[in-house]
Amino acid sequence: MSRVYNFSAGPAVLPEEVLKEAQEEMLDYRGCGMSVMEMSHRSKMFDEIIQEAEADLRELLNIPSNYKVLFLQGGASLQFAQIPMNLMKNRVADYIVTGQWAKKAWQEAQKYGTANKIASSEDKTYSYIPDCSDLPISPDADYVYICENNTIYGTKYKTLPNTKGKLLVADVSSCFLSEPMDIEKYGIVYGGVQKNIGPAGMVISIVRDDLITDDVLPGTPTMMKFKTQADASSLYNTPNCYCIYICGKVFKWLKKMGGLSAMKERNEKKARILYDYLDSSNLFRGTVVKEDRSLMNVPFVTGSEELDAKFVKESKAAGFENLKGHRTVGGMRASIYNAMPLEGVEALVAFMKKFEEENV
Ligand code: PMP
Repeated sequence: MSRVYNFSAGPAVLPEEVLKEAQEEMLDYRGCGMSVMEMSHRSKMFDEIIQEAEADLRELLNIPSNYKVLFLQGGASLQFAQIPMNLMKNRVADYIVTGQWAKKAWQEAQKYGTANKIASSEDKTYSYIPDCSDLPISPDADYVYICENNTIYGTKYKTLPNTKGKLLVADVSSCFLSEPMDIEKYGIVYGGVQKNIGPAGMVISIVRDDLITDDVLPGTPTMMKFKTQADASSLYNTPNCYCIYICGKVFKWLKKMGGLSAMKERNEKKARILYDYLDSSNLFRGTVVKEDRSLMNVPFVTGSEELDAKFVKESKAAGFENLKGHRTVGGMRASIYNAMPLEGVEALVAFMKKFEEENV
């Protein structure tokens, strides 16, 4: 068996330990004679899996008891609609557009009411986070929306926007569980799990109790009401059972690693190795304003499309996968999520140094 260093932005690398455990339990999960894929979502076995997953996630993020944890389908993109459907009582919301995912969420919200773009970094290819200390927040905004870590562009909010008392809603898909966060600062925190947590096909939405009501926009499908999912503890219909099971294993792995403070330290160390090299290189450079750099997604370029393509090709041959940047930024992007080992980043930097020597 040979595993590559996988720098994919998502679906992405998972802890090897978790994959091995899942492999061992594949045919016979803990003596029940079947795999988790084959068992009823109403069974006692599965009930234990989902309950334990939720309890571990609550412990990791220190989620207050007045927040519900929902395991939902439709990915992060369905939240772009689900959020306005459930929260847009005044039919007004403010969006900060820091990348394609925030833009898509903003565009989707326009179907349901007035979605104001109150700040954007589109003028410089989303390479920075705008100053959010004194924004023109709408007096009747139902919420202010951000994408906290911008997967494609590699930026991250280091301070949350001043929402002037309005509810904050955040897409944390690509920084979920990479460091501790204060859930109480948000009305909703949600993220697709396929980057930092598990396999694709699920989004975890952490929603404050008082936002879960029957007062949703007319025509909201039953499945799209947070209340439907909350009342049924994410089991209104058949959930993505296997994904919940793998996510649960990743939560246990994170606890074993020392929790989110330890992960933050580890992630900072990994990112520093890569950014320090980018800052000293005569060939490669990062594409993002330094103070807004993400710990998870690191875009970089050589300045020559030809050399970028050569690097992607040679790095792949050397066992570094998925380093090609997003088509809108070009160049390269290394996603260094929780499960990317330190050695992976060290090996990448060593390879980049060698490439620099050969090509400058
Ligand atoms: N938000 C962010 C920040 C993302 O990175 C992505 C996926 N790349 C999405 C939303 C969309 O996620 P999904 O494919 O689960 O709908």
